[in-house]
Amino acid sequence: MQSVKLNDGNFMPVLGLGTATVEQDLCDKAEEITVTAIEIGFRHIDSAYVYNTEEQVGKAIRRKIADGTVKREDIFYTSKLWVTFHRPDLVRPALEASLKKLQMDFVDLYLIHWPLSFKPAEDPFSSNIGDCFTPDTVDLCATWEAMEKCKDAGLTKSIGVSNFNHKQLELILNKPGLKYKPVCNQVECHVYLNQSKLLTFCKSKDIVLVAYSALGSQRICGTWLKENSPILLDDPVLGEIARKYNRTPAQVALRYQLQRGIVVLAKSFKKERIKENFQVFDFQLTPEDMKTIDSLNRDFRYTEPAHFKDHPNYPFHEEY
Ligand code: NDP
Repeated sequence: MQSVKLNDGNFMPVLGLGTATVEQDLCDKAEEITVTAIEIGFRHIDSAYVYNTEEQVGKAIRRKIADGTVKREDIFYTSKLWVTFHRPDLVRPALEASLKKLQMDFVDLYLIHWPLSFKPAEDPFSSNIGDCFTPDTVDLCATWEAMEKCKDAGLTKSIGVSNFNHKQLELILNKPGLKYKPVCNQVECHVYLNQSKLLTFCKSKDIVLVAYSALGSQRICGTWLKENSPILLDDPVLGEIARKYNRTPAQVALRYQLQRGIVVLAKSFKKERIKENFQVFDFQLTPEDMKTIDSLNRDFRYTEPAHFKDHPNYPFHEEY
């Protein structure tokens, strides 16, 4: 699997398996899905404390190490700090809680999941953390310093951020005494939201852009997360290009990001689709087709959590 060198010297495989599912009853499936993905060739697995899949994903990775398919160092595993754990004294315990679920000694990458913080519950590690939405005012730079300490302690190989706009990235980059730059910014990025300005900014700072929802995010019971959302994989132009290469729209949507120097995530809990999503290294889109796909951009976001919008650090009021 091709990798990209991060600004701290570590390497990240350019295609990752997403393991978030909006259907809680599917969380148990995450173990078999991760095993399948590793067998197919995926080496980069993206999860988070809040996804409730870390226990299953950890089991899967340990199973594939035990049966000799991979070594721990072949796997690049990402976890994320949830919004209720930004207080500096909670950062390391939150990572340790993930490690405990994973039964691992370290993760490869730990991300600040969102640039906004909410007050922790009385028991910050109670299971209903997703319900705590009273804004908190933790200084992002203080959270970042606690992240740096996690790297120094060997609990994570690399540290980065997610859902940050360029001003929030700059805040970290300009922090007096910065020890480690974020290695990446994981953001929503697909043909309808191609993030060209944020990508240029990240490249200029040697920060990798990691694309989530590259296939247009998730359907819940036949409907979409946001009402009236366009169905990305049904886009006729994407379909036409896919036919030309004898590929699927999903493969073209993923290949497009790889050719832009973006690390791309793809979530599927279906074996055939996981296989399909991995077949993106043996064809090349022409510069003309890349341009045509660029023109599909409409700055459309699938993910705009309603309970985040009034937070002073909400990242998406900025243009990029
Ligand atoms: P994607 O855009 O990757 O996928 C959307 C849906 O497409 C999936 O639910 C899947 O359904 C379906 N799909 C997958 N492959 C194919 C295919 N080849 N053909 C047709 N349909 C397909 O979803 P996500 O929004 O989940 O993003 C990917 C990952 O990014 C997440 O799982 C998570 O790890 C990460 N993420 C991070 C966020 C953050 O805040 N940092 C936010 C959102 C996501 P099915 O399973 O039925 O195949």
